[in-house]
Amino acid sequence: MFSYTVDVPQDGERGIRVTCEEHGESEEFQSGYSTVAFHCERCGYEIEITAHDLHEWRDFGEMC
Ligand SMILES: [Zn+2]
Repeated sequence: MFSYTVDVPQDGERGIRVTCEEHGESEEFQSGYSTVAFHCERCGYEIEITAHDLHEWRDFGEMC
C-alpha cells in the first residue's frame, strides 16, 4: 500500500506538487488546473487530484 501527498507552496504560488511517499517520485503542476493527474510508474497507478477551491488546497491521501 502506497500513499501520496500533495504539497502546496506557501509563498503565494498556486502550484501543486504531488509526491509518492513510497518511491520518492514527485511531479509539479502549474497553477490553473483544477484537476491534475499524477502517475507513478513504480506504483503503476495514476491518481487524480481535484481542487474545488484554490484557497482550500487540501491534503490528499489515497491507498493503492
Ligand atoms: Zn509510487
